[in-house]
Amino acid sequence: MSDLPNKADFSHVRDWVFDLDNTLYPHHVDLFAQIDKNMTAYVSALLDLSRDDARALQKRYYLDHGTTLKGLMIHHDIDPSDFLEKAHAINYGVLAPDLPLGEAIQALPGRKFIFTNGSVKHAEMAAKALGIFHHFDDVFDIVAAEYVPKPAGATYDKFMALHRVDTTHAVMFEDLPRNLVVPKTLGMKTVLLTPRDASHEFTDAWEKRTAEDHHIDYATSDLTGFLNALL
Ligand SMILES: [Mg+2]
Repeated sequence: MSDLPNKADFSHVRDWVFDLDNTLYPHHVDLFAQIDKNMTAYVSALLDLSRDDARALQKRYYLDHGTTLKGLMIHHDIDPSDFLEKAHAINYGVLAPDLPLGEAIQALPGRKFIFTNGSVKHAEMAAKALGIFHHFDDVFDIVAAEYVPKPAGATYDKFMALHRVDTTHAVMFEDLPRNLVVPKTLGMKTVLLTPRDASHEFTDAWEKRTAEDHHIDYATSDLTGFLNALL
């Protein structure tokens, strides 16, 4: 495991699969923090809970079900489209156009996908703000996943089948180590995006990478630099 890729490890790759949040833009931009706050407000209003209690429940659902949304659907029968609309009512202006990243993605040989636990609209808004949306062939979102989020194996299967991805000729980029477990078992190359600041406090301890993460081929805090090293 190292920061700079061995080009030969990727010469067979035909499909490039990217998570969105904290992967195609860096962790320190903190766009997800806005979504996080909106989700807390949603839970607080829905169940008439204090902010602290709403946040605790939100995080429990996230941990137990992969997304807060899935927990709310199971336990409170909420309308997912209403939730997604409200969660993603954020200011995308904090994302600046990233021309070097766009050029690096464009130069990759093969298809490029966004595979997100968010919505298509969110992916489109974020990727357009970054100026990279037009480089992608498609977005697979939580609606396409029938609200079953990564890291569920069934959701990866759904994505791979829909786009006829040969996983032995594909790579996945992700910021959450647990979302790379299934890709690795499917024979994909796996790249973990880490925060630029190594001392960065993760929101949840279980999101941290551990020495047990044998399913991670590479880790980098510089996606553009990593992709450029493959050309
Ligand atoms: Mg992410």
